[in-house]
Amino acid sequence: MVELKNVDVHYTDGVKGGVDALNDVNIRINDGEFVFIVGDSGAGKSTLLKLLTREIQPTGGRVFVNGYNLKKLKNRKLPYFRRSLGMIFQDFRLIPTMTVYENVAFVLRSTDKSKKYIRQRVPYVLNLVKLNDKAKAYPGQLSGGEQQRVAIARAFASDPKIIIADEPTGNIDPKLSYEIVELLQDINDCGTTIIMVTHNHDLVKYYGGRIINLREGSIAFDGTIEGAIEEGE
Ligand code: ADP
Repeated sequence: MVELKNVDVHYTDGVKGGVDALNDVNIRINDGEFVFIVGDSGAGKSTLLKLLTREIQPTGGRVFVNGYNLKKLKNRKLPYFRRSLGMIFQDFRLIPTMTVYENVAFVLRSTDKSKKYIRQRVPYVLNLVKLNDKAKAYPGQLSGGEQQRVAIARAFASDPKIIIADEPTGNIDPKLSYEIVELLQDINDCGTTIIMVTHNHDLVKYYGGRIINLREGSIAFDGTIEGAIEEGE
């Protein structure tokens, strides 16, 4: 669950007088939702994501994520909070010297999961993204779309409550973008909340669903639109 109440973010560095990146933003995202976040460059999308991961704190207002009040969250609790989130980035951020299998297993080893669990979980998530046959490959041997599928498997491996995808289709062939959204939908069907920032208007129009449109730090639109996709397709 995500809740932003009257959130302001004012950056004091940079331009003289600072920048109001977010102004009185109110958002509630319930468990199990799939939300697209759109908006022009500079609208405040990255700022919003940084609030959700507690990279930054709001100047005003309150942010709750997965039951944590992020203003009150102690630094020593931060790793536990972050484990309730899975992250997917535009540039994949895989470790180039590790195989696909190791890239996924690595994140699980930093939790208290047993070796047995990891041995079962990694093939399971690689199978979900249809990359079981590439388990021994290195990221550099994969296409962009395949690398992003590994990143999705990695984000989902620890079974987070929310997956935050920051422009996940930004660096891949537009045709393969649909595949990425569909994998995220499969994960969403397992109950994981998906929050996806995108510039790709075609994708948003095609799938529809809940859209939050930021404009100059405020919410210009928050609602559900009908997709172009046919039911059952
Ligand atoms: P988006 O992700 O939608 O492109 P951002 O959240 O990155 O938007 O930026 C929102 C506004 O805040 C922009 O005007 C941007 O220049 C400004 N901004 C972002 N980060 C900083 C920062 N660290 N210091 C000063 N201004 C910033």
